[in-house]
Amino acid sequence: MPNPTVDSAPVQVVCPNCGQPIRVPATRISDRPRCPACKTHVFTGGPVLLDDGSLDHFLRHSDLPVLVDFWAPWCGPCRTFAPIIARAAADFEPGMIVAKLDTDASPSTAGRLQIRSIPTVAVFDHGREVGRQSGALPLQALANWLRSLGIALPDPPPRTN
Ligand code: ZN
Repeated sequence: MPNPTVDSAPVQVVCPNCGQPIRVPATRISDRPRCPACKTHVFTGGPVLLDDGSLDHFLRHSDLPVLVDFWAPWCGPCRTFAPIIARAAADFEPGMIVAKLDTDASPSTAGRLQIRSIPTVAVFDHGREVGRQSGALPLQALANWLRSLGIALPDPPPRTN
């Protein structure tokens, strides 16, 4: 299976733990790279938790597209959507990063981005919003929407269950 990232330049990603920008050779992006500062795996297989203090920095320094799920703990549809977002985080890396932002805990970001209903998912390319959808989506519909935005998602892994 050809890997479209093999011949490209190093990819900058942001450590989900300490926020350090890290340049990973494109050929090593699938090799579970670790942050040189805090040794955390850069790709955790789960959503990155962002807040008012970390979102802009994370989006701006990530060469990979970032999907952000805007949610709140009291929101029933958000809780329904949470396992789909968790699955997306595992399935879509390292093609993109999946993150979550609690709009109750981070009201200034939610206000600035005019998040009017939750759940809302938005996709950012180097900090610029390139797409937004409101409401929970099935995983396949989410993947189809992301591909329609031009994002190269990895092929789905084989399911053993
Ligand atoms: Zn780190």
